[in-house]
Amino acid sequence: MVRYGEIFLKSEPVKRRFISIMTGNISLALEVEGLTHCIETPRGRILIFGDEPRRIAALVARTFGVVSVSVCTVTTADINGLAAAAVEHAERHLRPGMSFAVRARRSGVEGFNSQELGAAVGSAVLDRVPEATVDLTTPDYEVFVEAREFGGFVYDEKISGPGGLPYGTQEEVMALLSAGIDSPVASWLMMRRGCRMVHVHMHSGRFGGADGERNVLQNHARLSAWVPGHPLDLLVADMEPFFEVVTALKEPRYRCILCKRFMLRVASILAGERGAYALVNGDNLGQVASQTLANMTVIAPAASVPVLRPLIGFDKEEIVDRARAIGTFEAHPGNVGCTVAPRYPSTAAPAATIALIEEELDVESLAARAAGTVRRYRAKNGEVEEAG
Ligand code: ATP
Ligand code: MG
Repeated sequence: MVRYGEIFLKSEPVKRRFISIMTGNISLALEVEGLTHCIETPRGRILIFGDEPRRIAALVARTFGVVSVSVCTVTTADINGLAAAAVEHAERHLRPGMSFAVRARRSGVEGFNSQELGAAVGSAVLDRVPEATVDLTTPDYEVFVEAREFGGFVYDEKISGPGGLPYGTQEEVMALLSAGIDSPVASWLMMRRGCRMVHVHMHSGRFGGADGERNVLQNHARLSAWVPGHPLDLLVADMEPFFEVVTALKEPRYRCILCKRFMLRVASILAGERGAYALVNGDNLGQVASQTLANMTVIAPAASVPVLRPLIGFDKEEIVDRARAIGTFEAHPGNVGCTVAPRYPSTAAPAATIALIEEELDVESLAARAAGTVRRYRAKNGEVEEAG
């Protein structure tokens, strides 16, 4: 049994569309693992039937839009059927001296209310395990019984899903993906919010660490594992020529601002070519010199499409925790350092100065050229599939 959250709040036609996208995604994920199954969508729930319910539940619990999943015993929607199944569940977990609670729900079924259902099931459990006690506030064990018009369901575990909206219910966005910790989390959050994703990485050539591209590919592959069956593209553009002219400038203080603006410029061109609606990056207020509010204000206008910054108000700790949970955190990322970053970067670059420098460098044609160098990698199911 799959539960979803805010999709409930949508109008009927929107809800139908979102649920059909979500069940499509669930089917894809199960097919990738060779799990035969069938899906029903009665009111308010998604029911998946298959021979390997535990494996199915584990995969579904990684599907965007899913709030929680339970492996259920299906019974008739009456007190006797539900009580018999609940007793079976309780016998497996309830030891003498433990406390328990029955959580009962009923909808679309006549003849008893949920209190009566709960009480009847509770006494059936006590008959079988008389040394157990009832505790409705902090029980050691909970068993859930639901009487619905489409059947009776008994379970004692809820596996949390990622929540969010089904992947593909929102338009495509392009995330700037680095070898770091933040940007994979930013991409994941927008995928979780339903956006179709494409990644772009700016390759620093001889100005970057030797392990940069390998780590980006790894982040890219791991993120693709969150949308099984869907191809996920990574575009890699070459920034080496830009770094060559930037490092030749007398003034090193503005390099990071120029670099970040250049990335947005190139990514905007690529987003425009693909029809992606917005860019996504891992900016996090105050994290580094280029992410002071003053500098972000100077950097942002270089983009010609909106830039989404889902991590803007996170603490680093929260980002790291999330990176660990989604599987993109690397304790030893290797040599990914940037050799262009100055020792004393400006924390508040004057916009007019930046504009003058960019005119001098002719960044517009540099950006157009960088956008023309793109190599494409495609990942699927956690593996980089092909390059072209
Ligand atoms: P991350 O923020 O992903 O940990 P980082 O700390 O190396 O990487 P920052 O200097 O914080 O990068 O850059 C802010 C954002 O700019 C990143 O979150 C990412 O979205 C984007 N970015 C940085 N470097 C690159 C790159 N080489 N290619 C594409 N995007 C990049
Ligand atoms: Mg960062």
